[in-house]
Amino acid sequence: MNILVLGAGQLARMMSLEGAPLDLNVRAFDVGSQKIIHPLTHQVFEQSLGQAISMVDVITSEFEHIPDDVLALCCQSGKFYPGKAAIKTGGDRSIEKDLLDKTGVPSAPYQLITEKQHLLDAVSQLDLPLVIKTCQAGYDGKGQWRLKSLDQVDAIWAEMAGFIASGTESFPHTIIAEKMIPFDREVSVIGARDKEGNVKIYPVTENQHTNGVLTLSLAIEMDEKIQQQAVDAFNKLSLSMNYVGVLAIEFFEVSGTLMVNEIAPRVHNSGHWTQQGTACSQFENHLRAVAGLPLGCTQAQKPSVMINVLGQGAIPSQVLTIDDVKSHWYGKTQRAGRKMGHINVSAEDNSALGNKLLQLADMLPEQDYPGVRLTAERLL
Ligand code: ATP
Ligand code: MG
Ligand code: MG
Repeated sequence: MNILVLGAGQLARMMSLEGAPLDLNVRAFDVGSQKIIHPLTHQVFEQSLGQAISMVDVITSEFEHIPDDVLALCCQSGKFYPGKAAIKTGGDRSIEKDLLDKTGVPSAPYQLITEKQHLLDAVSQLDLPLVIKTCQAGYDGKGQWRLKSLDQVDAIWAEMAGFIASGTESFPHTIIAEKMIPFDREVSVIGARDKEGNVKIYPVTENQHTNGVLTLSLAIEMDEKIQQQAVDAFNKLSLSMNYVGVLAIEFFEVSGTLMVNEIAPRVHNSGHWTQQGTACSQFENHLRAVAGLPLGCTQAQKPSVMINVLGQGAIPSQVLTIDDVKSHWYGKTQRAGRKMGHINVSAEDNSALGNKLLQLADMLPEQDYPGVRLTAERLL
């Protein structure tokens, strides 16, 4: 079966790697160059998007910021999953908030901002500090401001006004202000839903961010009440979008209660540990769901950790001397802060995992790989 993935980054690459044994052949549409390429070799296929759409069996996406014309073409074909509503919801925080409100899934209190007065209203109704985000196109913490005191309002509004003004009628730019949540930690849940509505959900993962970017995910036994809240949110949101594929939901945990931060209608960085911590990874389950195959087991087989490689050079090959440590390199051009690869590590139990992380911490400098030693110490 041939599958076209919109987007040609590491997520399409990992889908391609895991699709091969199932005879699912992935081609990627590189939105920048408008070319159809092989996600591993980057070989260019002399094919237009329209031709690719007609030759493949299924179309899916590795990102939510898909240009409207591309999305329309894919939807018209009747082959696109998870569907237009899901992509629109993941790609626009105001639509996402509507869905969360409608389904009664708790999320950070917010106010939409189109003029300066709304910002002042947000300050008085939600209280400082606020996290202000562009509704469209943000990722890895980009397109965000932190409003901590009233004297910042003018300067931040000036930047926001510029952003709003740069929108057009067909691509409006809007802004949302959220209450800054004093969370105890951040977690996420990833699950797959197939075309018949069957659902399989992975264990909730704890996520550590540095400067707005995910740096480390920890998948160890999770409190049952937390898992249940995440499963509830997953079921409500995926059902209401009639979702097909893998869906990720990011949460803030505050005193044992989950509040949604955002959703991603795709495979997700915080699910990369499933490549070795489970029998069927998020990439395989996503492909299975969109291809109409039975979903695979999502139970954790071993406690696992995923460490992101952000902008650094090659992963030290020394890490491979540790059992159950695997390095994943995406083959992208290096840029400061860019996601270049990740390291997965798993072990029989938490203390064995802690010991492996301690060994890794000696090989991976703290400034480049934050949180490895601290996480090791917590597990030991
Ligand atoms: P991603 O790469 O996950 O798509 P993004 O650019 O869409 O990132 P968010 O997930 O909305 O951004 O925010 C990035 C991080 O900023 C969050 O993981 C969290 O650490 C922090 N953050 C965002 N919103 C809030 C909030 N309302 N209160 C507290 N912290 C927040
Ligand atoms: Mg996001
Ligand atoms: Mg996020």
